[in-house]
Amino acid sequence: MHEHAARARWLRETLHAHAYRYYVLHAPIISDAEYDRLYHELVALEEAYPELRTLDSPTQRVGSDLSEELAKVAHPVAILSLSNCFSVEELQRWEERNRRLLAEGVTLSYVLEPKLDGLSVVLTYLNGVLTTAATRGNGEQGDDVTANIRTIPSVPLRVPVTPDAPPAPPRLVVRGEVLILKEAFARLNEAQVARGLPPYVNARNTASGSLKQKDARITAQRPLTAYVYDVVDGDGLTLDNEWDSLAYLRALGFLVVPNAALYPSLDALAAELPRWERDRHALPFEVDGVVIKVNDWAQRRELGVVGKDPRGATAYKFPAEEAVTQLLDVQVNVGRTGKVTPTAVLAPVFVSGVTVSNASLHNYDLIAQMDIRKGDRVVVKRSGEVIPYVVGALIEARDGSEMPITPPTHCPYCGTPLERPQGAVDLFCPNVRCPERVYRGLEFFVSRAAMDIEGMGAQTIKQLIAAGLVADEADIFTLRPEHFEGLEGFAEKKTQNLLNAIAAAKARPLPQLLAALGIDGVGAVVANTLVQQVGTLDVLLELAARTKHAEVAFAAAARPLLELPAENEDAQKAQARLRDPLVELAPRFLDAQDSEKRLARLLKPLLAQVPAFDLAPLHATLLNLTEAARPLLSVSGLGAVLTRSIVAWFADDRNRTLLAKMRAAGVQMQPSQPAPVGGALAGLTFVLTGTMSVPRDQLEALIVAHGGKVSGSVSKKTSYVVVGEAAGSKLDKALALGVPTISEAELRQKIGDV
Ligand SMILES: [Zn+2]
Repeated sequence: MHEHAARARWLRETLHAHAYRYYVLHAPIISDAEYDRLYHELVALEEAYPELRTLDSPTQRVGSDLSEELAKVAHPVAILSLSNCFSVEELQRWEERNRRLLAEGVTLSYVLEPKLDGLSVVLTYLNGVLTTAATRGNGEQGDDVTANIRTIPSVPLRVPVTPDAPPAPPRLVVRGEVLILKEAFARLNEAQVARGLPPYVNARNTASGSLKQKDARITAQRPLTAYVYDVVDGDGLTLDNEWDSLAYLRALGFLVVPNAALYPSLDALAAELPRWERDRHALPFEVDGVVIKVNDWAQRRELGVVGKDPRGATAYKFPAEEAVTQLLDVQVNVGRTGKVTPTAVLAPVFVSGVTVSNASLHNYDLIAQMDIRKGDRVVVKRSGEVIPYVVGALIEARDGSEMPITPPTHCPYCGTPLERPQGAVDLFCPNVRCPERVYRGLEFFVSRAAMDIEGMGAQTIKQLIAAGLVADEADIFTLRPEHFEGLEGFAEKKTQNLLNAIAAAKARPLPQLLAALGIDGVGAVVANTLVQQVGTLDVLLELAARTKHAEVAFAAAARPLLELPAENEDAQKAQARLRDPLVELAPRFLDAQDSEKRLARLLKPLLAQVPAFDLAPLHATLLNLTEAARPLLSVSGLGAVLTRSIVAWFADDRNRTLLAKMRAAGVQMQPSQPAPVGGALAGLTFVLTGTMSVPRDQLEALIVAHGGKVSGSVSKKTSYVVVGEAAGSKLDKALALGVPTISEAELRQKIGDV
């Protein structure tokens, strides 16, 4: 008994300390799963020895998410939480306990739902109109988030949504969960990063923080979704089971938690649990388990409530995706782009079903920020298909023998000094012939996601590199049977199979080849768009070369301004614009009026330092650059950053040689459809003015797709000015210069698009 009391005291103190670190300091040192395990141990201990339960036990704290800034709403009935089960045996014990409270021999059927990991909310509809929304809070009262909830598109403001649905009762209270779908969370973070802001770490906290904004306009900007899964209360409702209530909620127009299932028995349900666990990553939201509810409401009422948990429902938690282990060493990995990734070598640990002994440590900045050291106890997370990564170190578990991790200065594979581009968090090996980079590049190129050359595994690539047969992607296509003679493990059959696979890869569609080249930002979607809107590889090479050429000319014209010692921050900003004209300037000059004045305005802080500077040559080179890049910048969805990366790749001599080698080796580079470029508008330059029947960029893309050029200003070189409604000064200029004008309809006639 004594040791139980001591253990309970230790658990209480430990849990309090971790809860404080988590909720107050926002600096947890153990994983959620580890916390759950300790908490669960205390619950079990207190259940076995109720006299050990103290008033200050963490188990007596009713979970609360109350915010001091929001008004409070009392719930009509207590909003309960759920007990947890971690194994089928625990589920069976749960059912056995329930059976003892019910009439002998009753049938128990169950509804199973994915356990949503969001913020619980209670919605009240009076005469069908959403009047109050509150968070769960402490179960008795919650925060008033009515205005915020109204901004969530999936929450009906009035039910039923469709007239043929059953009527809503005078008062209806439902419970649901507010969350951010995985895809929306990824997009939100992309936008954060694009704005130079740190990404959000956790979808649940972001959803919660978004919902509890005092200003609902901020909530409205966040991609929140709300699933409804429970009828809490309702006047005169005749529903008597969970399954029907879900159908009823769906009929009223609520977004009801998807993938729910009805099982006739716990055995039938338990048999399906492995499938639920396996498929959880395919769901559009994060789940950490499933909720299991007794279907029959009369039985549920009879079972009642214990503490804050209803007996008639429980949560089955999936095995933890986090585990604690020791960081033994750090390996330096170099990828195909040269990016250096520190990789943790771990004491093997079992995480979400597999043994993990390597995990990503992201980058050296993060290692320093999190103060991770060799020898530390670290938390490792493995979720779905994602590569396992180190979440953080248990700093309090140190014994003093831990060693700091220092970033490498030289590439461990080729000895080249590592570089860190301005503003980047990663180190890079700049050597394009670095054997590790070559190997990683080939590995990606032949992979399923890229050229999909079957039989070309890591081992084979290493063998071919070591034998001097392959030094780049193009070499793969020059392999012949005799090359494999004397190569270990290559019998005739295997060689022939590999050569057949390589021959088949020569005929892959152009977008697939483009996506396989490993150009920064060019995956399958961008590659498809490029081929559709730009056309052939030759056009792409030509565009890139021309743009690069114009960039070089611009850089030369800008050099005097770049060499100036900038006197203030604004001047530095102007220099940054000059340094990256394709991203910072060209997009603004695609359709600029008075472009020279505009450029002067953009560079004003810098020009103030050299009043005598002649802007005309710089302006001319910028217009050239803008024109050269226009076809790429006009491709919808591409954007300036991708344009820059595409231009840099296709203008690089080494890459041009690589493509030429591939072509010579018989790699097919024709798009499957005839190229639109060189079409009806080849050699013609158009200026658009006024309002068109479609957004202007759409019409511009059409012109570009048919080989024409689009310019922002009218000159004698302009072939046609396309005149829309309420045309402006460009029409006057066209008339003054004698440039022919046509309507949008006439333009469409020219390209047969009518
Ligand atoms: Zn290297």
